[in-house]
Amino acid sequence: MREKGWKDIPLGGLILEAGNAKEYLTGSWRTFHPVLDEKKCKHCLICWIYCPDSSIIVEDGKMRGFKYDYCKGCGICATECPFEAIKMVEEAKCRTEEGRK
Ligand code: SF4
Ligand code: SF4
Repeated sequence: MREKGWKDIPLGGLILEAGNAKEYLTGSWRTFHPVLDEKKCKHCLICWIYCPDSSIIVEDGKMRGFKYDYCKGCGICATECPFEAIKMVEEAKCRTEEGRK
């Protein structure tokens, strides 16, 4: 399925029905994205509490990474992590270095 471009979405990103926010893949807005240092992470889940896009993946009470389709790269998780376990990396660099989208 083709990702929606900015011309395809309603003006102002309207939420027309309950739950349709998941259709807006805000990850395409990003210029930076968060990267987890698993060795430093203590699974306190402060990042999960603060993330405005519910983009922190939690499984069995542990922080497991990020939902990059929805993370818009605001950096709040990296700022709030008390253990400096998240760093923000330039999106363009990661596309090259990690071969990721
Ligand atoms: S705030 Fe930091 S230490 Fe806590 S779960 Fe998130 S990444 Fe891990
Ligand atoms: S950068 Fe922002 S949107 Fe992305 S996971 Fe961190 S707090 Fe959530």
